[in-house]
Amino acid sequence: MTTDPTDAADDGLHVETLAAHGGNRIAAPYRALIEPVHLSTTFERGADGSYPGGAVYARDHNPAFVPAQRLLRGLEQGADALLFGSGMAAACAVFRSLPRGARVIAPRVMYWSLRNWLQAQAVQQQWTLEFFESVAAGESADACGTRDLAGLLRRPADLLWLETPSNPTWDVTDIAAAARLAHDAGALVAVDNTVATPVFTRPLILGADLVMHSATKYLGGHGDLLAGALIGARDDAFWRRLAAERAQAGALPGAFEAWLLARGMRTLFLRVRHAASTAMAIARHFDGHRLVASVAYPGLSSHPGHEIAAAQMQGGFGAMLSLRVRGGEPAARAVAGALRIWRQATSLGSTESLVEHRASIEGPDSPCPPDLLHMSVGLEAPEDLIADLERALDEHAAV
Ligand code: PLP
Repeated sequence: MTTDPTDAADDGLHVETLAAHGGNRIAAPYRALIEPVHLSTTFERGADGSYPGGAVYARDHNPAFVPAQRLLRGLEQGADALLFGSGMAAACAVFRSLPRGARVIAPRVMYWSLRNWLQAQAVQQQWTLEFFESVAAGESADACGTRDLAGLLRRPADLLWLETPSNPTWDVTDIAAAARLAHDAGALVAVDNTVATPVFTRPLILGADLVMHSATKYLGGHGDLLAGALIGARDDAFWRRLAAERAQAGALPGAFEAWLLARGMRTLFLRVRHAASTAMAIARHFDGHRLVASVAYPGLSSHPGHEIAAAQMQGGFGAMLSLRVRGGEPAARAVAGALRIWRQATSLGSTESLVEHRASIEGPDSPCPPDLLHMSVGLEAPEDLIADLERALDEHAAV
């Protein structure tokens, strides 16, 4: 376990309360409210050779990670949490812990870098990697809200990877329904909860076994740290394999990143709820706009995943949306370049709003439409964000 017995003090508290305290415990000798940043890489043994402090070496047991891990465990309502050096490091640890020849099912629409890594690794590790497809508007969905996931789960599998809403068209999968079918097929269920955040979705409560975060995004929340996290429903054999994989491979954040992460999460609920309400206002404003071909946002009733999102996401639909610009790829690229308040950059989840012509970063094999702008809504005034987009669309989109 990476948490400690005082974690029981969190039981029964609201997640907002846990976040406000940032995972900190009053720290000796000054009764400090914020725990100190532990920088030591090694820890002294007692005269009998034991480790009375409970830590041996910072790659295995890092006291600098304790507040952030404690808080993540509480926010996702898991048994334990592990910090990693990035979201990719956390995700890769899950796949690396699978047996050779495993059958893995993942969405085709997912974080593109992980999809590419999986495709390359599947060959080396002899995994059978199968992608499920999202439904388009007007198409009928299976029990999981997808085109074919329920069918793929009729045969035994080792791991179902979900990302919902999924990057960059924010497709929605029914976690509870997928987890039931996956468990019947003998598969573990891991959910990339980066975009929904525990503010809106708690996959472990819905039946998933593992949650993964790119903590670089909303959890850190200020665009100034790179980190990842896994939260496990149980401290079981697979979880211990993940902890061993992390300790051996050493894909860890630094002590200051871990501290920044715990600090950022103290305002998680305020930031994410505010950004999501702005995203909803922007989505509604541009839905049906003469210069916008379509808006992808699970909060709109026109989104194919809206009904599942409304049931699965508590209190909001997230702060990510995409616009397809009339005039095709050249118009979309020109609009992105003409924006002044939205920063043209990859990533998401910071206080400033970001825009990206997504297909050009994902490359030629991407399922991303060429006219799509990927938009991370930040904390600016909604009127300023809308006015900036209106001006850039007027200048560059073509009816
Ligand atoms: N998952 C999602 C949904 C992401 O958007 C990203 C990064 O953009 C990652 C995972 C990877 O996270 P990191 O950049 O922290 O490795």
